[in-house]
Amino acid sequence: MEIVVLPALSDNYMYLICADAEAVIVDPAAEDPVMRELDKRGLTLTRILITHHHYDHVQGVPGLCRHTNAEVIGPNDERIPGLKHPVREGNTFAFAGSDFRVLDTPGHGDRDVSYLLRTPGRPDALFCGDTLFVSGCGRVLEGSAEALWTSLRKLAALPDETRVYCGHEYTEENLRFALTVDPHDRVYQDSLTAAQQRLRDGLPTVPSTIGTEKKANPFLRCDSSVAFTALRKRKDRF
Ligand SMILES: [Zn+2]
Repeated sequence: MEIVVLPALSDNYMYLICADAEAVIVDPAAEDPVMRELDKRGLTLTRILITHHHYDHVQGVPGLCRHTNAEVIGPNDERIPGLKHPVREGNTFAFAGSDFRVLDTPGHGDRDVSYLLRTPGRPDALFCGDTLFVSGCGRVLEGSAEALWTSLRKLAALPDETRVYCGHEYTEENLRFALTVDPHDRVYQDSLTAAQQRLRDGLPTVPSTIGTEKKANPFLRCDSSVAFTALRKRKDRF
């Protein structure tokens, strides 16, 4: 099992999860990079996993459906093109000796889900769309701050070694914001330096881990829903 990070649009990440003969794509913002990678590896796309309906997470779906027989899986939302199998909290489906578990994580939108890939003998991998970012979280667009807080608490309760694969490369800006909250925080300073180095080297800052996020994400460091809501509003103005 290999997780390939595919950049798309200006700052989106798509994730191609590759087994021996088949692959699954998470949030295809574009069709071409996915088709190229499938061709290069000789893999058949069997599923398209969608975290939420925003165009920059589903734009590649119609093209991928034309070129493959992949099934579209996502939350029950008519705005997701080609949706075949609506899923919600607790649903699981098998993939090449691993399985995916669905978590309801609304707040950014009103129906967002995340997918937890569980492979025996390896840390779990979380695909959380625009709910949790590296050192940040999604904006409250159609959901509520209260719902997003509850979703983030749910993700923070996953094992520390869980790998976090989020929907955008926002890490540098998120850490700049974190340093306006705690200007002398060493974890934020060191994380920013490390992120900037990776970006200079042309590398993504994903995956993070839940353990790292509990230390280096100001939104996961909030101790109440009230503090979280205030911090989220402050970030909206940053
Ligand atoms: Zn979004």
